[in-house]
Amino acid sequence: MDLKTDIQYVKGIGEKRAELLRKELEIYQVEDLLYYFPYKHIDKSEIKAIRDIHSGIQTAIQLKGRISNMELIGQGRSQRLTAILSDYSGSIQLVWFKGIKWIRTGVKEGVEYVVFGKPTLFNGRFNITHPELEQESQEPSKGIVPQYTIPEKLKNKFINSKIIQKAVLSALNSIEISDPYPSSFLQENRLIPLKKALKNIHFPENTSLLKQAENRIKFDEFFYIQLKLLLQKTIRKREQQGHTLSKIGVYFNSYFNHHLAFELTNAQKRVIKEIRADVKSGKQMNRLLQGDVGSGKTMVALFAMLMAVDNNLQAAMMAPTEILASQHYNSLKDDLEAIGVRSHLLTGSTKKSERAVIHEELLSGKAQILFGTHALIEDTVVFKSLGLVVIDEQHRFGVAQRAKFWKKNTIPPHVLIMTATPIPRTLSMTLYGDLDVSVIDELPPGRKAIKTQHYYDGQVRVVHKFMKEQIALGRQIYIVYPLIKESEKMDYMALEEGFWALQEHFPAPEYSISIVHGQMKPKDKDYEMQRFVKGETQIMVATTVIEVGVNVPNASVMIIESAERFGLSQLHQLRGRVGRGAEQSYCILKTPYKLSKESKTRISAMVNSTDGFKLAEIDLQLRGPGSIDSTQQSGVPMHFKKANLATDQKELKQARKAAESTLEADPDLSQSIHAGIRQVLKGKYSSKVNWSKIG
Ligand code: ADP
Ligand code: MG
Repeated sequence: MDLKTDIQYVKGIGEKRAELLRKELEIYQVEDLLYYFPYKHIDKSEIKAIRDIHSGIQTAIQLKGRISNMELIGQGRSQRLTAILSDYSGSIQLVWFKGIKWIRTGVKEGVEYVVFGKPTLFNGRFNITHPELEQESQEPSKGIVPQYTIPEKLKNKFINSKIIQKAVLSALNSIEISDPYPSSFLQENRLIPLKKALKNIHFPENTSLLKQAENRIKFDEFFYIQLKLLLQKTIRKREQQGHTLSKIGVYFNSYFNHHLAFELTNAQKRVIKEIRADVKSGKQMNRLLQGDVGSGKTMVALFAMLMAVDNNLQAAMMAPTEILASQHYNSLKDDLEAIGVRSHLLTGSTKKSERAVIHEELLSGKAQILFGTHALIEDTVVFKSLGLVVIDEQHRFGVAQRAKFWKKNTIPPHVLIMTATPIPRTLSMTLYGDLDVSVIDELPPGRKAIKTQHYYDGQVRVVHKFMKEQIALGRQIYIVYPLIKESEKMDYMALEEGFWALQEHFPAPEYSISIVHGQMKPKDKDYEMQRFVKGETQIMVATTVIEVGVNVPNASVMIIESAERFGLSQLHQLRGRVGRGAEQSYCILKTPYKLSKESKTRISAMVNSTDGFKLAEIDLQLRGPGSIDSTQQSGVPMHFKKANLATDQKELKQARKAAESTLEADPDLSQSIHAGIRQVLKGKYSSKVNWSKIG
């Protein structure tokens, strides 16, 4: 028997049960069974005397005795079954609220049982509710025993935790498991052998071995994924030809020398150099640029695009919303024109006639830079020679969409992905393990830290007074309302009510207010947005359409309504809309008085920190890795059986390091000592590694 043996040949399973296990738990082979881990263990190593029960006992214990005085008490929902368990030292009450019928018929008085459960003090006496009962003749399990999650359908067919237990035990006893890792590797990484790990994760000899077993399994889960990602990166770098952008030319230089309104930060310069090194290497660039909101990613993107244009290639910049795409276009087009670069904006609302012109110019090569939304990746958009693509705020784009750019050329364009949603480093290692990562870790000089305050809904007067003061100083204000799909109608009502109420407190002509939300036509949205950008309106009431990237330096106050309904990274994004000018900026988080514990944590994290990476870390701890909508981006599963991206960062780092040094020593995993690792990778994680391209 080995790991690949069909489950039906395991002792105690057979054809019928095998069928059920396949269907309900996707257990096909012995391997699947051994990787069906228990959700907890219980300690059955000791039988306690009833007399020794005391209030300090926190866990389930094991007793042995006879059952008597079985009695049905009460009526209806409060009905319960009680019995007395007695051993040589005393007696204790047992209680059942459920499964009464089954206990009454199945449990025999006067017979000796082993009873397992947690005693609790009730009315001055101990009892045990819903104890587990086993007749001694049935050989009760010894030691620390595993408990498995059993779906209802299996329970109905009398497959219980015990049956799985026995099957696992018998499989473990009759199987050879050779470790894929060489023994030197185990030593270096302080791992126990696979067989020992599997044995102890089900039937731990003691708690320390259980921990080591879990560590080994977590390591495996992380290690193979890291290996896969690193291999993909190696292959891409080795195989994927890219345009060689050999020269820095007139466009880059004349923009740099004559149109740059400020000195680039050191971080911006560093990242531009990293990009430069990539694009002249002859290999395709796939770089992720992480930089907190307001860190100046757009400038970096522009210089990257100019590198392409300088080498007679075209560049494109894609943004997730029309507002953002047109903002990019509008903020850069004049300067681009001044240096003689022809650019266009293409979005869903570009007029047909205009679109035709753009298409033609892209095809002929007359248009050099294209800004836009998803409209860019439509099949009808054909470039003469696309050299570089910037994808802004990439968390809105999936892998499949990105791949569409690849097809627009025989040589794939260089790709720069930008995101202001900071991702904890450990997480980006997995999410973007196959990308190169640059970080802008410095804000342009002179920015004042945004002051964040928490106000309750009842404090609206204070907030209005503050708004008026700010407007008097010539500043502009955002007010953002949540818009959650599930409660869209209510949310729009809240937005509109808020808008009307605001107009009463801030009447025309003294004040003017813009409103932007998702149900408006793009043209109207743009109009309202432009009024605000130009300073014609002082207040912008909006839904989260302004979350991403919008840049109005004169806006210095961000008020977030129902802030408790936003996630931490979203709050941080929204706050990043202010603090872009030289003025002191403010963020006001409004919530009801009543807040959940988690909301309180989020709000206070916002009040106390402006560091996006730190907030991302807190967010990950609060919400767990499941919240990160990532599989679509990376094709990497975020759910592991044992490992947890939020809490096992140390383990992840260790696995990453091990994967790196393994590949350093043996880039193709072709050495015989790595045959085992190679085989596992090929089996379980093969989908994305193109093995034909490896050694
Ligand atoms: P983000 O990284 O959030 O996309 P932007 O690129 O929109 O940030 O830049 C935010 C603001 O900072 C813009 O107004 C931009 O002109 C300005 N900016 C960018 N780089 C610098 C710099 N080195 N010095 C001063 N201001 C800068
Ligand atoms: Mg931006």
